[in-house]
Amino acid sequence: MKDGRPCPKCGAREILRVPDNPARHASGNNIYTSRLTLAGKVPVIRYVCLNCGYTENWVEQSAQRQELRRSFI
Ligand SMILES: [Zn+2]
Repeated sequence: MKDGRPCPKCGAREILRVPDNPARHASGNNIYTSRLTLAGKVPVIRYVCLNCGYTENWVEQSAQRQELRRSFI
């Protein structure tokens, strides 16, 4: 999936990366680290196997993972 590996469920290689859309507030699977609207948004990027539909979710940037660590641990 991520990093070009095939789907772990079916082995297909046709993988779609679905990015966060910053123009749409409610788009995607974001994690919010603040109660303030539009602040502290950590985008979760999805990878979808176009053969079987299996989906992975990734917080891609280490700075964003650090933000989660600060906020939730
Ligand atoms: Zn698959």
